[in-house]
Amino acid sequence: MQFRDLYAQYKALKPEIDAGIQSVIESTGFILGKPVAELEEQLAAYVGRKHCVCVANGTEALQLALMAYDVGPGDAVFTSDFTYFASAGCASIIGATPVMVDIDLDTFNMSPAALEHQIQRVLAEGKLTPKFIIPVDLFGLPANFPEIEKIAAKYGLRILEDAAQGFGGAINGKRACSFGDISATSFFPAKPLGCYGDGGAIFTDEDAIDARLRSLRASGKSPEDKYDNREVGMNSRLDTLQAAVLLPKLKAFESYELDAVNRVAEKYTAALSDKVVTPAVPEGYLSSWAQYTILLENKEQRDRVQAELKVKGIPSMIYYPRGLHQQAAYKWMELSDTDYPNTIAATQRVLSLPMHPYLENVEQEYIINSLLEVM
Ligand SMILES: *Cc1c(COP(=O)(O)O)cnc(C)c1O
Repeated sequence: MQFRDLYAQYKALKPEIDAGIQSVIESTGFILGKPVAELEEQLAAYVGRKHCVCVANGTEALQLALMAYDVGPGDAVFTSDFTYFASAGCASIIGATPVMVDIDLDTFNMSPAALEHQIQRVLAEGKLTPKFIIPVDLFGLPANFPEIEKIAAKYGLRILEDAAQGFGGAINGKRACSFGDISATSFFPAKPLGCYGDGGAIFTDEDAIDARLRSLRASGKSPEDKYDNREVGMNSRLDTLQAAVLLPKLKAFESYELDAVNRVAEKYTAALSDKVVTPAVPEGYLSSWAQYTILLENKEQRDRVQAELKVKGIPSMIYYPRGLHQQAAYKWMELSDTDYPNTIAATQRVLSLPMHPYLENVEQEYIINSLLEVM
């Protein structure tokens, strides 16, 4: 059994994916070719933003989004403490300072109350200028944008949505990648919409930001003359082969995969919610289920359950074993566990179960029955 079965998906989409790859090889337009432009158009339409700029990966999508707003040294960027490293690393790498914010344990997403507390702390300290908030759509569930937007407005901050795991999610029909001032996603193979290597995208409604991102992803070239650079950018372009893989995958995602993962999630929740804490989906929210993550009682029980599932041939993952404030790279910040009680609880109690659109009924029943048995 696979934790996320990418080969089952390939088998379902093989004719279209193979033909797309073959046609890129024959066109020899390997970087930012026509399929990339086509993909950008389709992605922008799907998420409901004016522009989409495809780049080399999700980490650089986040970094380039901050660069397009001139974020840098002396700026504070607030992000969730319980997420993949890039949500904070994107700020550090351009000289800004990430400020980690504790989460709400029911959704695993940034706590609006903890966010306001951290903003006030930074303002009182007077060393950094608060600039951006990076809410993360963790495990596919959009962050609490209604509340976070109010806080951003109150303190004059911008929002960069980290939708690396959130693509396909929505709040009251408004889709992930359309929240805040600018948003970024990842096409890493295991994400809700994944390619066959690294890839990412940035979404904006602003023409000027779109133009700047197109320059920044190509080393900062001028629109008129590619050998005259108007600023220092990055080499962060999407390979055309990845766009050829993503075009049929986006079609499948829209037409049935997003529904399929939601059916899998409903079935898990119906079968397990009496025995473990199952993931909450607030009223009006739609998750794209990058992960289906349950909470066990404590670390001992979680580790035991994971080991016993493994014996039964069931893969499970711990996303994430530590908070960002516990990472070696941020040791110099001397952050205390006592400021991140929900992150700490999550790191000790979470367990992510196999989740993907091609999970068979019999496989899921085996997972559910095994889990209930070892509990
Ligand atoms: C995967 C991920 C990223 C980074 O994406 P890459 O394409 O792997 O660089 C950023 N943020 C979150 C929350 C992620 O899960």
